[in-house]
Amino acid sequence: MNDKSGSLKPEDYARIRKTAASLQEEMSDFLSAFLRIESENPPGNRYRECCEFLGEKMESLGCAVDIHEIPEEALADLAEESRGYPRYVVIGRTGTRGPVLHFSGHYDVVPAGDHWTVDPYGGIVKDGKIYGRGASDMKSGVAAQIYALEVLQKAGYRLKGSYVSSGVPDEETGGTTGMGWLVGSGLLTSNNTDYCIITEPLDPDRYCLGHRGTLWFSLELEGIQSHGSMPSEGLNPIDAAKELLQRIDVQIRPGLEKESAYPVAPVSSRKSTLACTMIEAGSKVNTIPSTCKLSFDWRLIPEDSVQEAKESLLKICDDLVEEKKITRYSYRPIVEVDPNWVTEEQHLVQTLKACGKQMLGIDMQPVVSPGMHDQRFATREGGLQASIVYGPGRLTQAHKSDEHIAIQDFLDGVSVMAAVALELLGFEKETDPEANETG
Ligand SMILES: [Zn+2]
Repeated sequence: MNDKSGSLKPEDYARIRKTAASLQEEMSDFLSAFLRIESENPPGNRYRECCEFLGEKMESLGCAVDIHEIPEEALADLAEESRGYPRYVVIGRTGTRGPVLHFSGHYDVVPAGDHWTVDPYGGIVKDGKIYGRGASDMKSGVAAQIYALEVLQKAGYRLKGSYVSSGVPDEETGGTTGMGWLVGSGLLTSNNTDYCIITEPLDPDRYCLGHRGTLWFSLELEGIQSHGSMPSEGLNPIDAAKELLQRIDVQIRPGLEKESAYPVAPVSSRKSTLACTMIEAGSKVNTIPSTCKLSFDWRLIPEDSVQEAKESLLKICDDLVEEKKITRYSYRPIVEVDPNWVTEEQHLVQTLKACGKQMLGIDMQPVVSPGMHDQRFATREGGLQASIVYGPGRLTQAHKSDEHIAIQDFLDGVSVMAAVALELLGFEKETDPEANETG
């Protein structure tokens, strides 16, 4: 054992790359098998099987593994369609000393949908790519968390700090019952963790510092029901809905034209967006309905806040009541998450950039994600600002038909993650096994 500590040398990068390449077939097989476990959310299929699959592999690498069932009381907000499907978090850990690096990723996937030319749960490998729902978003990320550790072990490195890897459910439906529980239960907070990397697909040559805010809500406008032949006897909330949408165009939309100074990717998402996504009203052709319900999806650039956005909208609703266009309204929040980001000037980010440069020969670029992800639980509830997103998948593949990952991207992600773990946790290195053989 060469007790060699400190920064990685060019030969270390070569050694990691070579070891990752030697594991390519095994890694592809593992990801294919993982993709064959159809873990669609909703409703939350085969979650236990996913955790056992990951846990078994982590145990084979010497990790202490726990599978936690999310307690019933934490599942109160689950949607109707997900009731009765238990939720689990799997955590593997090697090492007992600090510093602690925690890789986390979600193993649930969105429903496959239509227009696939391959079986979305076949785990098919062809033309240097692995296909399947979750290939990019983000079973490749979860698999990479585990294989980065195996690469380090096979390459003869011993980590000084602790390497933790977790698989969580339900990111695709908000994350409260996955990463939210992991953080809320105290298993991942700044008290026990120094660095957190969420392995979502933001491309293997970029790193993500945060995400836009999300404001999902419904508004129920109340009018007065009457006979359809005598509309003046009632108050039609559909007319008020039309008025509401027009006032949004005049009073709110111009403000959404402001471009963010943050590197939100893709560039088309660099402004806030507000879309009315559902309208429900009426039950009979000859009756003026009493209510009209509208649902909205509002995404906020980091310069905006949920509070301000909400106030501007409720002001319009208050005006409609004042002007007697409706009798009253109710606002129901579905998701209210402020924009989230962490500073680039921190050790974790600088280390990742340096490793990316050495491993891939490129200057990795920062991005802010257009949609929210699990990072916010770690930074807000967990108080851990050293939380970023880096994973092997491609953002453009997420939720698409024929979703896939290039095997080269998968290998690159694993190699970069392995190098980052060495730099952050410190290491001892065994003499190169091949040098031994020949010398
Ligand atoms: Zn994802």
